[in-house]
Amino acid sequence: MSDSLRGRRFHIRTFGCQMNENDSERIAGILAAAGAVPAAGEEDADIVILNTCAVRAKPVEKMASALGRLGRLKSGGRKVLIGVAGCVAQIEADALPARRPGVDFVAGPGAYPRLPKILARALDAPVVDTGRVPDWQEVPPSILARHSPVSAYVTIMEGCDNFCSYCIVPMARGREKSRPLVSIRAEVDGLIRAGAKEIQFLGQNVNSYRDPASGADFAALLTEMGRRPGPEWIRFVTSHPKDFGQPLIAAMASSPRICRQIHLPLQSGSSTVLARMNRGYTRAVYLDLVGRLRTRLPELCLSTDIIVGFPGETEAEFRETLSALEEIRFAAIFSFRYSPRPGTTAARMPDDVPLEIKRSRLIEAQALQKRLQTEFHRGLVGRTLRVLATGPAKKDPTAFSGRTEGGQIVNFRAGTDVTGSFLDVEITAAGPYSLRGQPV
Ligand code: SF4
Repeated sequence: MSDSLRGRRFHIRTFGCQMNENDSERIAGILAAAGAVPAAGEEDADIVILNTCAVRAKPVEKMASALGRLGRLKSGGRKVLIGVAGCVAQIEADALPARRPGVDFVAGPGAYPRLPKILARALDAPVVDTGRVPDWQEVPPSILARHSPVSAYVTIMEGCDNFCSYCIVPMARGREKSRPLVSIRAEVDGLIRAGAKEIQFLGQNVNSYRDPASGADFAALLTEMGRRPGPEWIRFVTSHPKDFGQPLIAAMASSPRICRQIHLPLQSGSSTVLARMNRGYTRAVYLDLVGRLRTRLPELCLSTDIIVGFPGETEAEFRETLSALEEIRFAAIFSFRYSPRPGTTAARMPDDVPLEIKRSRLIEAQALQKRLQTEFHRGLVGRTLRVLATGPAKKDPTAFSGRTEGGQIVNFRAGTDVTGSFLDVEITAAGPYSLRGQPV
């Protein structure tokens, strides 16, 4: 490790999903192990890293505006190293330093273990490192700078072999790489000793997991984790519907500690759009899976991702997405307007749904979901739910906030600091996006 980092202050901004957040925890851990220290904020930092997801246009736009601001700081005389990490770094590596003169280093996801050396070299000249290795690269979990002592991410695989036509992940993260099961066990054991109450297994496609040594699949991993002594709640994200077989459903049912919650991206309710997206399932197959899941796991909360305005999406195809939302009644959705990502198959299709129509479809889908979610939440009023308190409530620091097993946010009052505790909370009121309750 390089001595040039000793005492230098770093700040990481993360734009994207939990995988990116966990990557930021890794980056922070690697820099801290090399002697750098976290800065109070961007203004106070010697090194600023923008860790950005490239899956959607929005985080990329946010990163571009942050780079503009940082670049102005630098031209005003501030001595600061500015770097880009994450999927954007991988995809746009060569363009970034040239397009943005303020960028000092670009590090793709495979380059994180080399960051101390990259930073030392970047003091002299811009560095681009997007080298990849075909196998899993272990970062010792003990150095991870975790975002929460209560709820911990455990990455079990990365990359994707699915090549959905709109998605940049296989290009940005490479082919699927699974983490050895022995390393996962060791990290989970360490988290138990540290008092974590909840772990979340992460991967672009967790249910493609296969232990490189034994070939054990994700159902086997989950069954084992559900049986071992461990955190009270176990979650996982993201699952691909086409890989959600009966053994995985049985694994979930085998332990009450595996949360009855699945994020299961649907993307579109139209089989013809799904075929153009190369998703590998039809509407009927997805609905059949939902039916089997709900039969075996009656309390299951499902959430999903929806894209509107995919190339060629007709009004009738969009209506099929709305009818799927009505039929499935998800507990939450993440919905987006389609935007072409460079290098994907869909980027070569005509982006022919006008922006105004994309916008109005998104508004309509979100309004429908808001109604469905409000109805679902109102049905929870009067019930007592187990809640893991995560900390002070966002809008009212005198109250606390937590999540149910199904992932719903619950705000409540408590006489003492209950962060990190499980509580039984009676739900007293419901809005579309959160619940209010009273500990019992
Ligand atoms: S499954 Fe499809 S959407 Fe998900 S990461 Fe892989 S290519 Fe992207």
